[in-house]
Amino acid sequence: MNLTEKDKLYNWHPYTQHQIAQDFPAIVKGKDALLWDENGKEYIDGIASWWVNPFGHSNKFIADAIYEQLTTLEHVLFGGFTHNKAVQLAEKLVEILPNNQQKFFYSDNGSTAVEVAIKASFQYFFNQGRSKNTLIAFEDAFHGDTFGAMAVSGISLFTEAFQDALIQVVRIPVPVKGKEQETLASLQKAIEQHEVAAFIFEPLVLGAAGMVMYEPEILDELLVVCQQNNVLTIADEVMTGFGKTGKTFACQYLKNQPDMMCLSKALTGGTIPMAITTFTNQIFDGFKSDSVNHALFHGHTFTANPTGCAAALASIEILQQPKTSVDLERIHQHHLQFQQRIQQHPKVATTRVLGVIFALEVVTDNPQGYYGNLRNRLYNFFIQNGIILRPVGGTIYVLPPYVITDEQLQKVYQTIEAALEIV
Ligand SMILES: *Cc1c(COP(=O)(O)O)cnc(C)c1O
Repeated sequence: MNLTEKDKLYNWHPYTQHQIAQDFPAIVKGKDALLWDENGKEYIDGIASWWVNPFGHSNKFIADAIYEQLTTLEHVLFGGFTHNKAVQLAEKLVEILPNNQQKFFYSDNGSTAVEVAIKASFQYFFNQGRSKNTLIAFEDAFHGDTFGAMAVSGISLFTEAFQDALIQVVRIPVPVKGKEQETLASLQKAIEQHEVAAFIFEPLVLGAAGMVMYEPEILDELLVVCQQNNVLTIADEVMTGFGKTGKTFACQYLKNQPDMMCLSKALTGGTIPMAITTFTNQIFDGFKSDSVNHALFHGHTFTANPTGCAAALASIEILQQPKTSVDLERIHQHHLQFQQRIQQHPKVATTRVLGVIFALEVVTDNPQGYYGNLRNRLYNFFIQNGIILRPVGGTIYVLPPYVITDEQLQKVYQTIEAALEIV
């Protein structure tokens, strides 16, 4: 039996209907933007393995930092102790984040980063003796798969089975072009009609919705309305963080800054699962009191794991090198050129570009949802051609590792063009 066959005996894969799933390639090696399976077939990783891997697979600089940390201090509990790497990482975060973000809570993945922000929002008001029981989120949002994160995600086949068990959320439309005023009005109405603790959003790009984009100006307006009404704001930068939109954080396109931010995915350069929820001093101070009851009662066994912190520090060091800005601009320019070339194609409905993110919607009468027929045909076509892209419904997007070469990027575009011929 090869790895693919053995895997089928035991492993339960995410978002997978195993009764109809095809064989999953077994990846045995990765380098930069490339992956190889057990049969020696080469793949270009066009989505940075779910957006986590900006500096390439098996990055030696980050690996060395991890090895060094593993052989110095692999882990120590963060309850009652601290360590060098958590301090250094905090100092680095203060330097690169919007300057109102001053306090950092560590966890393990994007969903837990969101859970922490949601719990902090409710308890912030609870500590003041106020009960606020509602959150506001965008209709097509994705914030993760744990219960709180699921509640603020859009209702879909991902969350349908759990709707009765979720906290109260009011959904407002995504403020895409032409919908801005509708969103603004919906936000105001939701705040008037409910006891709203916080508004959570993916800034400028809704990743899992298919790289749906909206402008910073309207987000600024939404933030102002929240601030005027004592509603906390949570920017979920789990996808957008660490360069993807062309700036280090999408919030850096804004004039107003959120109260909290959620970071994960590219935080450790795709090496060690880790996440951070960041806070203003004002939120942090809302938990200080003479009473232990007002402390944030949340934690994870591996909170602020030193090896994860070391990986994050190494990854941010690469992010800050001049070569990375050159790469971000290079990929952005290639995306714009490809957009120019492809947008008139009769099978292309719309295209979008922000930073290193490119998205294209295929003209289709019936995309049949996220895992519909069109989506599967496209996905299989890309895999057959050695390109890893995971279309969302009829939306094909590219979000490559920043180290992808021009040649590899062109191959991704050419394969997308070829795919348009089969839809
Ligand atoms: C992926 C993602 C999450 C969830 O992160 P996990 O690590 O998968 O739990 C949350 N928010 C956004 C915007 C994401 O893209």
